[in-house]
Amino acid sequence: MIDTAAQILCELIRIESISANSNLDIIAYIERALAAAGVTSRRVPSADGNKASLLATIGPADKPGIVLSAHTDVVPVDGQTWTVPPFGGVIRDGRVYGRGATDMKGFLAVVLAAVPRLKQAATIAPVHLCFSYDEEVGCRGAPDLVRALMQSVVPPALAIVGEPTTMRVVRAHKGKVARRITVTGRTGHSAMPHRAANAVDAAAAIAYALRSLADEEIARGGDTAFDPPFTTIHVGSLHGGSAVNLVPERAVLEYEIRTMPGRSAGDILARIDGLVDRERDRLRATAPEADIVSEEISAYPGHDIRADHAATLLIGRLADDPQPATTVAFGTEAGLYGQAGIPTLVCGPGDMARGHKADEWIGLDELEAADAMMVRLADLLRRPGEHWMQTGGAHGDD
Ligand SMILES: [Zn+2]
Repeated sequence: MIDTAAQILCELIRIESISANSNLDIIAYIERALAAAGVTSRRVPSADGNKASLLATIGPADKPGIVLSAHTDVVPVDGQTWTVPPFGGVIRDGRVYGRGATDMKGFLAVVLAAVPRLKQAATIAPVHLCFSYDEEVGCRGAPDLVRALMQSVVPPALAIVGEPTTMRVVRAHKGKVARRITVTGRTGHSAMPHRAANAVDAAAAIAYALRSLADEEIARGGDTAFDPPFTTIHVGSLHGGSAVNLVPERAVLEYEIRTMPGRSAGDILARIDGLVDRERDRLRATAPEADIVSEEISAYPGHDIRADHAATLLIGRLADDPQPATTVAFGTEAGLYGQAGIPTLVCGPGDMARGHKADEWIGLDELEAADAMMVRLADLLRRPGEHWMQTGGAHGDD
C-alpha cells in the first residue's frame, strides 16, 4: 500500500502545480486515478477556467459522511538551492523528495492510494474528496469547492484537512486578511508642497495608525494556546517616492491582520477604512483628483473547535494521537469548512517545518502513519449507527 502511495506521490510531484500555473494537469491526473478505481468526480472550475477544484463522493451522498481535504497547488522554488530536482519525485533513504512532498501532496497521495479500500468500506456513510486550487495564495479555490460540496450532499459529519501536522490533531488556527493600499496624490516641487499632495505622507500616517491598532490588540490579550496569544497587525511593505526634492505622488503599502479565532477582522478593517477616508480627505484638500484605494490580496477565516468536541476526539483516535488537540501558527482551509458548519480538524503527514523549503521531503514512515489513519477510517465507515454520524452540522466552535 505504501509503495502505491509513494509511487503516486512521485508522480504528483512531477506535475509542476505551483500556484502561478494552471492546475488542470494535476486535476486530470487525479480524475484518471479516481476513474481507474471506479469513482466519478466533478470539477469546480475557477472563473477564468484555468484552474479547477475536484469533488468526489464515495458512497451514499444522502448520509452524513467524512470530508478528506487537500490542496493541489504548491509554492514556487525560485531562489532556493535544491540538491535534488524539485519536480523530480525522487525516493532516497526512506524519504520522498520534491516540492509538495510535505505540503501537501503526501496526504493527497495517501488518500488516492486508499480509494479502492474506502470505496469498499463506504456503503453506510460516504467519504467526500475535496481537492482545491490556489490554497497557497490565500485559499482562493476552497470557497466555491465548499459551496459545491454543501449543495450536493447531506451536511458532512466531519472534515479532515490533511495539512502536515506530523499526524497531530490540530483544532485551531488564526485567520488572516492581507490588503494592499495604493495612495495616489499629486507631485510637485518640494519647495511648494502646499500645491501638491504627498502620497508617502499619507501612507506613513496609515502605517503609524496600524501600529496603534496592533498595540490595542496586544493590550486586549487572548488565548495562550496561540503564539503570540493575540491578534497581530503588521505592515509588510511600504514603497513610494523617488527623490528628496519631489513630492511623491504614489505610495503602496501592504499589511496583514492575523486574527485570533472568534475575533472579527471586520471590526479592525472598518477602523482602517475610517483612517483611509481621513487621509484621502486630507489629500483632496489640495488635490481633488487624489485617491486611496484598498484591495484584498488574500483572506481566510480562522478556525476553532473545542478540544473535547466529539469530532476532535474521534479524529484523535483515527490519527492515533493520544495527546490533547493542539493549535498551529499557519493557516489552512479548515476555517472555510468550519464556517459551513462541518466539525473540522487539521491532521496530516509530514512537518510544516519542511514545507516551502529547499529539499522538501516526507518520510515513507510518515506516509505509512497517514495510511494507517485511512485504514481506521475505512473501519469506521463500516460501523452503522456510530455517534459521529449523528453529529452532522453540529459545529463545535466557541
Ligand atoms: Zn499546505
